[in-house]
Amino acid sequence: MRTRYSAWNLLAAARQGHSDWAPAWREAEPKPRYDVIVIGGGGHGLATAYYLAANHGVKNVAVLEAGWIGGGNTGRNTTIVRSNYLYPESARLYDFSLRQYEQLSKTLNFNIMFSQRGVLTLAHSRHDLDAQSRWANAMLCNGIDAELLDAHEVQALEPRLNVGADARFPILGGFIQRRAGSARHDAVAWGYARGASALGVDIVQSCAVTGFLKQGDTVVGVVTKRGDVRGEIHADKVALAVAGHSSVLAGLAGFQLPVTSYALQAMVSEPVKPVLNTVTLSPSLGAYWSQSDKGELVMGGALDHFPSYAQRGSFDVMQHVVAATVEMFPSLGRLRLLRQWAGIVDVVQDSSPIIGATPVPGLFINCGWGTGGFKAIPVGGWTLAHLLATGRDHELAEPFQLQRFHTGRLIDEAAAAGIAH
Ligand SMILES: Cc1cc2nc3c(=O)[nH]c(=O)nc-3n(C[C@H](O)[C@H](O)[C@H](O)COP(=O)(O)OP(=O)(O)OC[C@H]3O[C@@H](n4cnc5c(N)ncnc54)[C@H](O)[C@@H]3O)c2cc1C
Repeated sequence: MRTRYSAWNLLAAARQGHSDWAPAWREAEPKPRYDVIVIGGGGHGLATAYYLAANHGVKNVAVLEAGWIGGGNTGRNTTIVRSNYLYPESARLYDFSLRQYEQLSKTLNFNIMFSQRGVLTLAHSRHDLDAQSRWANAMLCNGIDAELLDAHEVQALEPRLNVGADARFPILGGFIQRRAGSARHDAVAWGYARGASALGVDIVQSCAVTGFLKQGDTVVGVVTKRGDVRGEIHADKVALAVAGHSSVLAGLAGFQLPVTSYALQAMVSEPVKPVLNTVTLSPSLGAYWSQSDKGELVMGGALDHFPSYAQRGSFDVMQHVVAATVEMFPSLGRLRLLRQWAGIVDVVQDSSPIIGATPVPGLFINCGWGTGGFKAIPVGGWTLAHLLATGRDHELAEPFQLQRFHTGRLIDEAAAAGIAH
């Protein structure tokens, strides 16, 4: 069976009618015991398993996924990848991730369709211009690329923007991170799943974790609807990567997280020929836009206004995003809306993630990416795998411990995380 994707193998396989390709990953039955169980088969869980095997040689690993891999937020997001954060701790974390994205197709031998088309942030007022020049300067101080733009430069980049003097939201300028862009979300999940499976990791779908096995206070495994007759699967270490349900799993394990869960929605128009060049965001309007490779206009906005586990999204946010789209891109006003959906995101009070140990021995966590964890999948997996394999926090993850809510050393990225997915 053919496993490696290459031009040569494509040609050779064509002669067999493409009948001899191996499945991308093995669908496994759970074993009674693992070195590590990762709960959640989204990008972060799969990347954790992949880096455990690839970077540390820890291969007796299972990823347990309640539904299907990538069916959570990883397959629902608007695919923006950027590292334009304010604080040095975040800049280091997200830029490490962006650098991994730059080589991920090669690393995984799987085309994640990474497109560095630039992320353009719009300024509509003097206040926006001031705030954005501080933001861009902070990025430059942190060694991240950023370029301030005047109104003409913005117009040259995105000619369809409404730059008229009588526009309700005049565009005075903005800034761009040119290395930022987007990637195909499913491909990121599938690529990590394929890579992990090839290294021996068991990927078990339709396997919801419903409880934890404990010896004293220590977690020594999980309870599922599969596994042995009692549904038990044992492990030396258990990791949570269940964005949207982190508080639910933490509750089952016996601790609380400083997390609130909201629906975040996105929508696409009918497909059209290429009309947008960049990923464009308007923090003041609370909306952002890009164009998918299929031609759909991809649109998103802010969180719903109330906590919820209903994966739908409320009408007022959708209406707001559509109104903002027509305002900013009048020539796209006659496009029809094709689909709308939502995912549940776990938001931490300082808009930064949590990657590290939990108060429960044997249990580790990666959560709280809120509206922006797709871009962080490589670094989330890399740093959690490091902790699970070595017992020490990765230096990039040290500032992002749960402990910061006791020490008060918060990393408040609300301004950069706003709607800037
Ligand atoms: C509409 C929308 C737009 C977004 N846009 C962007 C963007 O442009 N850029 C960006 O960087 N981020 C974006 N995000 C955020 C990003 O999608 C998430 O932060 C990221 O995908 C989280 O990945 P994950 O692997 O942690 O979670 P998920 O992909 O949600 O995976 C968690 C998995 O855990 C599983 N699970 C839950 N409970 C259990 C259980 N009991 N047992 C077993 N499995 C369980 C779920 O089924 C799920 O598959 C967006 C999110 C949404 C919803």
